[in-house]
Amino acid sequence: MKKITKVLALALSAALLLPAFAGCSNDDASNSGTEDGEKEKLVIATNAEFPPFEFVVEKDKGIVGEYDGIDIVLMKEIADKLDMELEVSNMMFDSIIGAVSSGKADLAVAGMTVDEERLESLDFTDTYWSAVQTILVSKDNTDITNVESLSGKTVGVVTGYTGDTALSEIEAEKNITLKRYTKGVDAVQELVNGKIDAAVIDSPTAESFIKENPEIKGVTDDEFFATEEYAIGVKKGNTELLEKVNAALKEIKEAGRIEEIAAEVDARLQ
Ligand code: GLN
Repeated sequence: MKKITKVLALALSAALLLPAFAGCSNDDASNSGTEDGEKEKLVIATNAEFPPFEFVVEKDKGIVGEYDGIDIVLMKEIADKLDMELEVSNMMFDSIIGAVSSGKADLAVAGMTVDEERLESLDFTDTYWSAVQTILVSKDNTDITNVESLSGKTVGVVTGYTGDTALSEIEAEKNITLKRYTKGVDAVQELVNGKIDAAVIDSPTAESFIKENPEIKGVTDDEFFATEEYAIGVKKGNTELLEKVNAALKEIKEAGRIEEIAAEVDARLQ
């Protein structure tokens, strides 16, 4: 599963092709009619089940409505720079790419790892976070120490996540029984209840679940799981929006805001 390592090269070559698309029309949700004095909307498609990147808090207690998280704060700052109004559209993770490519949402912002398959459906901005898959097991488990030792075990993954993709490739060969969930928190609950032997999810989210559930711990396998890079997905060919978001993202990254945002969100999650 070293596919993801090719991502940067692919993203670079995609960037080189960009000028060829300059001037393409855009028919996105952000263009929906604006009245005088009203800001243009920037609609992001996300799955708010992925702390610390996106999660639901009490109504009106979030950064936008009931939504908080690193991605939400980051996008609020990007929208402010573009003088646009951020709107969050919460949906199943595997609906996000379709929502953006059909123009129902402008951007895919969901701690989304750039990979070859997704690059066929969307264009991606520069990356803003690195993560790796973590194997969550019960704290007293001693026999699961890497992916190899998942052989014969029942492992929870979230449908369509990169963890699902990676393990699906070896499921038969390694005799792993994959159980798919729509939310990471459900997989963790089943792990805590002893219904599954392990759950595989992105490292930042794994850490967040470990904090909430002291009876579980994380195991890593750098040999098997490649580093993943998160980026924001844009409808293919919408270079105008891609360039605007990239410019704002660059300023935010250069100001060291990503780390600050992460620390602020972390403090709110305590
Ligand atoms: N980074 C993982 C992926 O892209 C998980 C993303 C998420 O759950 N929001 O599949």
